[in-house]
Formats: sequence, C-alpha cells, structure tokens
Amino acid sequence: MNILEFEVKNNELIIGGVSVSSLVKEYKTPLYVMDEDVIRNNCNRLKYSFSSSLFDTEIIYASKAFLTKEMVKLIDEEGLSLDVVSLGECYTAIQAGLNPSRIYFHGNNKSEEELVFALKHHVGTIVIDNLDEFLLLQSLAKDYYPSLLLRINTGVEAHTHEYIKTTTHNSKFGVSILSESTYDLIERVASSNFPFLGFHGHIGSQIFETSSFKEHVDEMMKYTLNAEKRLNIKVTVLNLGGGFGVKYTSEDHNQPIEDFMKVIIESAEEKQEELGLGIKKLLIEPGRFIVAEAGVTLYQVGSTKKTYSGMNYVFVDGSMADHIRTALYQATYSASLANKMNETEDTLYTIAGKACESGDMIIKNIYLPKVCKNDIIAVFTTGAYHYSMASNYNRLLKPAVVFVSKGNSRTVVKRETLEDLLRND
Ligand SMILES: *Cc1c(COP(=O)(O)O)cnc(C)c1O
Repeated sequence: MNILEFEVKNNELIIGGVSVSSLVKEYKTPLYVMDEDVIRNNCNRLKYSFSSSLFDTEIIYASKAFLTKEMVKLIDEEGLSLDVVSLGECYTAIQAGLNPSRIYFHGNNKSEEELVFALKHHVGTIVIDNLDEFLLLQSLAKDYYPSLLLRINTGVEAHTHEYIKTTTHNSKFGVSILSESTYDLIERVASSNFPFLGFHGHIGSQIFETSSFKEHVDEMMKYTLNAEKRLNIKVTVLNLGGGFGVKYTSEDHNQPIEDFMKVIIESAEEKQEELGLGIKKLLIEPGRFIVAEAGVTLYQVGSTKKTYSGMNYVFVDGSMADHIRTALYQATYSASLANKMNETEDTLYTIAGKACESGDMIIKNIYLPKVCKNDIIAVFTTGAYHYSMASNYNRLLKPAVVFVSKGNSRTVVKRETLEDLLRND
C-alpha cells in the first residue's frame, strides 16, 4: 500500500521524479533510494516549528539514523548540527567538512581513542554519560575544553518498544536523577575547567504521544531547579533528545512534527516561568523523523513459494542484512509492487529475504497484486536505521545508496563489491 502517497505514472512508482524501473536498470537491486527534497523539507519543518521567543533553539541531527558524507553535507547546508556516537561517525562528519564545533559527541562507553580524537579536532560538545567517563576526559584534556552536557534519566515512560525505551532508572545510558551520586557528578562537572551547559535527556524512539514530551520537559526542568538550588550551579541549556514517530504502516497515526514541537516549546516556556528558571537554549536531536520517510528500498523478486500449510512467500534479492528492523524489533512496514501500482492488491504474501535465517523477514502478511519473477518491490519508510544498520551477514554485499531529486538521481554510496568484502581478510 502506497501510504505516503508517492506519485504513480504508467502503473509505476515514481520517487523524487524518477521511475523505479529506471532506478533498477541503472543501479541494480537491492537499492536504498532517498528523496533529498523530503529530507530538506523535514529539516525546514523543524526549523520553522522549533522556535521560541523565550529560548534560542538548535536542531541536532542524530546521525546514527543514516550517515554518509553526502548526508553530512546536506545537514550542513540546512544549518543543522550533528550528534555522533562513535569515532566512525565523528570521522565521517569531519571528513565531510562539517565544522566540529557543531558536533555533539554521545555514547555510554566512549573510548580513550574517541575522546582523544574529539579533543584533537575541537568537537564542540561532549555529552557525559557517567563518572568514569568524566574522569577519563578530565585526565585527557590539556589545552582544549569542550562544552559539556550531562545525560540524565528522569524515568519518564515513553510508550514504545522495550528496546528503544531509554530513560528508565535501569537504562544503560546516563545517570538517574534518583541517585545521590548524580549530584556529586554534576558538582564535579560544573566546577571543572570545562564549560558546563546543562542536561541531556532522551526518552526513546518512534514515539507518537505528544504527552510523553510534555512530561519529559516538565521533569527535566523540575530537576534543573532542584540541582541549581542544591548545588548552587547555573544551567543554561537543555537537550531534550529525539524520538519523534514516523509512519511505517497505515496503523501508525501520523502525528505532525509541528504538534510535537508546539508541545515541547509551550511546556518549556510555561515551566521556565513557573519555576523561575534561567534556561537560555533548548536543543532537540531528531534522527528518524528527518530521514525515515525519505527512504524506499527497492528489491527484485527472485521467486515465490506456496508452502504445504498454505503460506505465500515472495523471495526478494535482499535480506535482514539490509533490513534488520523486522527481525530486531518486530517492526512493521508497508510495501507496493512498484511496477504494478494500479493492479488490485488481492493476494496475501509474506516477503522474505535470502539470508539463512528463519527470522529473515521483510514484511509478514501484506496484500499485493499477484507477484511474478523480476517484479520490483518497494518497501517504504526505510530511510532511518536501514543503511546504518546494514551488515554483511552471509557475506551479502551492502546495497548502493542513491539520492533522487526533481527527476535526477546520483550515487552517494557505491554498491559493495566482492573485493570490498575481502579487503580486510
Ligand atoms: C537515537 C537517539 C536519538 C534519535 O532518535 P530518533 O528516534 O531517531 O529521533 C537522539 N538522541 C539520542 C541520544 C539517541 O540515542
């Protein structure tokens, strides 16, 4: 089902003005296609809606959702900052020419190598996860002191999958606001040589309830007041994380991003006044929202199989190696038979990959027109956590990534080759 209302011409799906048959012909399959204009439009919607007369605001793209050098350039052109969680992401950003002052370095176990790299390249902000990490950073910094945020858990429950919930008091990320030791950590950070900005909190991912964000903002601000009073410190920045839900199937209600931004801004303005806080700047870190709906994965059908018990399989030329979220999170997707868009979707199929793993499913139970060999299957909403989670399981080659815009297409990541596969053996 074409839930995102893509253009259809001559019975064929069109992505960013380019027909799927021409994409498949030029770039082969499996193929990650990203509509650049959708990404830019999402950035603009955030820029317009995440603004306040009371606070400065900054939008930080969570690069783990999808990162390549071209993506860094796009983010740079759109004026967003970048959140990285590893040496590899940080290196990619710097190699692509992003000003390191716009990088936020995250992670619950940053290595010495990563911290040294961040210091050497003058990464703007490090988000401190725990005391060990802060002590390590303190021992490494000699002449450059990045700004620091401290990641805290307020315990706000986001209604989402267990694996993508992050702010509980047993989370592996950050420190709990209920721990006495958290005050000690804040005190050390705030009285160090590093500029201490404030707190970071991220409640989870693929969240649809705006009320979760109101609760999150309220709790972050209440804790800010509490910490300021108790420790006689000043907090000027709050980073509220990401997690805004996108549409994978018709069952996902499509909460406009503007609604989330309105709730965050209004709650923050209200609470700032009520508590008499002096917060100057609010940050958000969306990943999925910016890229998910811009991405479509194209596959070709190799064969179909009807099982003894009556299941109808469609086998595609990709797998869990390029599409892991179904196996990992029981995530659901929608898809279309992209070369037969006008035909009736009357046959129930399960789309499976080619990996040697029974859990290698792309979509369980989806109605499609009758599928034949070489038909093109388009799986929607695959721009986030697909290319970035791709592996070489079964020694499968990672697909190419193509950007499309206004009728043109260009390779931003080449398809892997057999030589690539052996490079480090
Ligand atoms: C993953 C993550 C994000 C982005 O989450 P989305 O659901 O992709 O918006 C933001 N901040 C942190 C700290 C994260 O770990």
